[in-house]
Amino acid sequence: MKVTEHIEKANGKTMFSFEILPPLKGQNINSIFENIDPLMEFNPPFIDVTYHREEYVYKELGNGLLEKKVVRKRPGTVGICAAIQNRYNVDAIPHILCGGFSKEDTENFLIDLGFLGIDNVMALRGDAVKSETYFTPEKEGHAYASKLVEQISALNKGIYLDEELQNKTPTDFCIGVAGYPEKHMEAPSLDSDIHFVKKKIEKGASYIVTQMFFDNSKYFKFVDKCRTAGINVPIIPGLKPIATKKQLNLIPHRFSLELPDALIMEIVRCKDNKQVRQVGVDWCVAQSKELIAAGVPFVHYYSMGKSDNIRAIASQIF
Ligand code: FAD
Repeated sequence: MKVTEHIEKANGKTMFSFEILPPLKGQNINSIFENIDPLMEFNPPFIDVTYHREEYVYKELGNGLLEKKVVRKRPGTVGICAAIQNRYNVDAIPHILCGGFSKEDTENFLIDLGFLGIDNVMALRGDAVKSETYFTPEKEGHAYASKLVEQISALNKGIYLDEELQNKTPTDFCIGVAGYPEKHMEAPSLDSDIHFVKKKIEKGASYIVTQMFFDNSKYFKFVDKCRTAGINVPIIPGLKPIATKKQLNLIPHRFSLELPDALIMEIVRCKDNKQVRQVGVDWCVAQSKELIAAGVPFVHYYSMGKSDNIRAIASQIF
């Protein structure tokens, strides 16, 4: 079922959803199930599965020669989505990127997803890989998520790149896109970023999931600005409970966002990461309660592979 249909059916009730990462290469899919199983009692209508691009490493061969080697640490997004739908009977939402995909790769990827009965996709640009300074699209690929949304929308109308497929069965994906309450790190301003979020909606996206934020006023301001800009689709807040002291430095740097002083000081005073995890849970519970009171359709949690803290939050709320 489409995310928009889940929202309609819920009739104003806030629902629980979460995002998982495919397991690291070499791990068993049971590591995923062990983290999902304890969350199923909170009835998530959908589970997002992130997509991770190939990275390149260069190995010295001597004589000034370098060998380019492709490294993928977390493959398996599509297979994991199929396994989730099969095991839990909920909608699995694969993330799909511009980075690393030509338009033809994208078309084939989407056809596979259609065969698997996937109803929703999250369309993203992706970040620069470690060997790049700036994000570089694949040859014949998309430079921005809005272009990817345009391609998915075309496929939904039965317009394929492959000429032999014209007028064959169209796909019917509900498309989600990213939004950034504290603006995307490359955007010169929040207003310009929202201008481009609107482009993604105009091209056919039906809902937005936000980057994590730790101060709800940033989300409420973002929603207000989106509405003023004429964006009327659901804006699902994404929350992540802080779990380690290290994240105090990592999160603002990696995602270009601010942590509230009160949260920083609570974490600074913690003796160990067990205490930090509890502070993260309490902060996230307070954020969730305020968001639910404001009538958000979903609260979407970033599980980052370990679900015990998400369970601790959900059991107080859902
Ligand atoms: P875009 O919407 O294309 O925007 C990128 C930047 O370009 C922004 O600064 C925007 O303002 C600007 N821009 C957009 N269009 C134009 C234009 N036409 N001209 C000029 N500037 C423009 N990454 C992964 O690798 N895998 C994942 O699974 C993943 N999941 C995510 C889930 C969520 C909910 C979020 C919020 C992010 C996720 N990301 C993921 C990270 C995401 O790929 C990065 O944040 C990426 O840098 C931007 O992606 P986007 O889709 O927002 O890009």
